[in-house]
Amino acid sequence: AAAAMVKETIRVYARVKPLSRRQQAGSYSVDNEELLPSLEITVPRDLADGFINNKRESYRFKFQKIFDQEAKQDVIFDSIAKPVAECVLAGYNGTIFAYGQTGSGKTFTITGGAERYSDRGIIPRTLSYIFDQLQKDSSKVYTTHVSYLEIYNECGYDLLDPRHEASKMEDLPKVTIMEDSDQNIHLKNLSLQQATNEEEALNLLFLGDTNRMIAETPMNQASSRSHCIFTIHISSKEPGSATIRRSKLHLVDLAGSERVAKTGIGGHLLTEAKYINLSLHYLEQVIIALAEKNRSHIPYRNSMMTSVLRDSLGGNCMTTMIATLAMDKRNIDESISTCRFAQRVALIKNEAVLNEEIDPRLMIIQLKKEIQDLKDELALLTGKQRTSELSQEELLQLDELIETFLKDNDPDSSLDVGADMRKIKYSFVHMKQIINHPMTSGKKLLSEDISEEKNSNEELEKLKGLLQQRDNEINILVTMLKKEKKKARDTLPPMSLEESQSPSRCSSLKDAKVLSSSIPRLPFLSRATGGMSLGCQEAFEIFKQDHADSITIEDNKQLLKQRFDEAKCLGEKLNEVRNKINHLKGKIIQRQIQRAALGVLNPSEELTFDPVEENLRMQIEEEKKSYKTVYSRFKGLKVEIEHLQLLMEKVKMKVQKDFEVWWSEEAKKFQQEKPEMVASPNTVNPVYPQLIRSSQHLSPISFSDTGRDSPNEDSAVKNNSVTSGSPTLKTRIPPSSSTSIPLTGDSQADADILAFIKARQNILQKKGKSCQ
Ligand code: ADP
Ligand code: MG
Repeated sequence: AAAAMVKETIRVYARVKPLSRRQQAGSYSVDNEELLPSLEITVPRDLADGFINNKRESYRFKFQKIFDQEAKQDVIFDSIAKPVAECVLAGYNGTIFAYGQTGSGKTFTITGGAERYSDRGIIPRTLSYIFDQLQKDSSKVYTTHVSYLEIYNECGYDLLDPRHEASKMEDLPKVTIMEDSDQNIHLKNLSLQQATNEEEALNLLFLGDTNRMIAETPMNQASSRSHCIFTIHISSKEPGSATIRRSKLHLVDLAGSERVAKTGIGGHLLTEAKYINLSLHYLEQVIIALAEKNRSHIPYRNSMMTSVLRDSLGGNCMTTMIATLAMDKRNIDESISTCRFAQRVALIKNEAVLNEEIDPRLMIIQLKKEIQDLKDELALLTGKQRTSELSQEELLQLDELIETFLKDNDPDSSLDVGADMRKIKYSFVHMKQIINHPMTSGKKLLSEDISEEKNSNEELEKLKGLLQQRDNEINILVTMLKKEKKKARDTLPPMSLEESQSPSRCSSLKDAKVLSSSIPRLPFLSRATGGMSLGCQEAFEIFKQDHADSITIEDNKQLLKQRFDEAKCLGEKLNEVRNKINHLKGKIIQRQIQRAALGVLNPSEELTFDPVEENLRMQIEEEKKSYKTVYSRFKGLKVEIEHLQLLMEKVKMKVQKDFEVWWSEEAKKFQQEKPEMVASPNTVNPVYPQLIRSSQHLSPISFSDTGRDSPNEDSAVKNNSVTSGSPTLKTRIPPSSSTSIPLTGDSQADADILAFIKARQNILQKKGKSCQ
């Protein structure tokens, strides 16, 4: 099939993150009215001096569109992601990637905020949209899979690994790149999980996000240093057709684009300093190479990320970039870098083709059927051929029989040629001949028969040729299949992200199905309760109350309850409407019975239009309409409730993780201060092996999610110690309340509790001091 091709440059959008009250706004203006919207950034004199090559004060950048601070997630989805999702549904590959410094809103844009349902980002909205569309289209059979890859330090990790409860990144299965002889990229070890509906896909997303969060340690700062690629794989097929369309949508949250700030001569900041993240440096090289004319070599292979996204950059893909910008004064510098990068990306031309391929298995099935049909036809034809050769003797016999029959005047006489279709046919033809041309004999008939025989011989040869041709085709396809299988074996397990134009990945799909049936729900519960001493649990309870996210949890609980009530209400309403409809239907039937009875009594009265019945029908239609609206609201609520439940689980996990880090730090500190109060370090360690390990490189990064506004503030928080800087530990419970913690008599647990109380008082004291 001739593949449809779409040539298009990468679409580049900008999104400006809302400033917090404390931030000083940088000076910029947005003009979305022009043919090509533009963003103008004005740099203050003192800062402009720092730009070594360029002392301009004002910079103007063109974008497809600029979304200023107030743009909400639904608008972002509708304008940026929906058109890409539509292309992917039609069979083209799509990519949306977010680029910008840490804290500029990449994750918020791609995945969404963890607090409000309305904050959900491009991934959950796209899943919702795609499954909605698939459901509406009954003309095709669709299969959907998702995969979720994290690339950190040139290593790939499978975030959807269902078997693990990862507590660090190294626990996740390592994904590696394989290149086949046709230079297609295959990702070894990346699982493709089947998702048959929105709910299953969302569960997978949350599983991946949870693994992503758990795997992050303060040391690797994975969220800012790693790239995350969530991919939706769609294949579709019309029933009975062997042609399969495959497409995939990469939704990419890139590593933070911030550069190493180099101080030049005279203390000036050099803006052209190197990326912190090396793979972004290679991404830039690829983009520069693509923008240059006559460059034949594009250095995709330099990093794993550019290898995986090769098709998205200058290849077979509809690609969209979102430049995320933090426009406060301190980040203007990075924002200009981001915009410059965006301008280069906007020059790249991609060529997306419709990814259609023939499934050799289906093709073979189809051809086999065709061959069987041909064989049947041939058998029929050859059968006729063989038996149509009535011998001369038989023919003469027949002629005689017919002649006697025609001459016989007995009205009871009959012509009996036996149960032989050939003879019956011959007899009719012969008699027709005699009636039309009474003078001619049956001899002419015989000669005609011979020419007919020649015709069918020709047809037979034709069919035989066709059969041979089909046999050849099958042989070719079987060889192809074998080769595919071998190729798949070579890159086992063959769950390829980049399945490209190569046919059939049946085995990998099967594997994925097996895996997906064993996906656990989030691993929260087992982590929460496993191996905690009583004292530790007690402390966890208090920590939970104090944690800033407890407000989120409470809010969400309230919201959930509200939604549940609403859903219950709607459920009742649905029942009510259903009952009403049934009642009206009953009335119609009654009415019909009455009128039928009337018709029997007075046959003269015609049973035609009945205004009463019509009225009842209209009422039913009305009720059905209201049923439909209530039902769609009900369904929407269901999705929201499920989403909220997943959000809650996620926040709970985060609190748990924060606690583990904090607790181990406190225990360690306490041990250092008063070693005699803890039984012995040897007894502490085995109880929290996991905690102690992670405390070795502790910083409160995971605490500071709330209240952080700018990347710069982030790093300020990171440099503080837990006890003085943690913004989320609030002093809601007075120190005296610690006496309410019961001692257990278990020396280990008691030591835990005491350590906790001591640590807590420390915090409260320090907090008190800093407030004065
Ligand atoms: P990045 O992934 O680029 O490092 P994040 O998406 O984590 O940045 O954003 C940093 C913080 O800013 C988060 O707390 C996020 O919720 C918030 N944030 C980012 N963009 C927006 C926005 N458009 N509206 C509201 N909050 C936002
Ligand atoms: Mg992020």
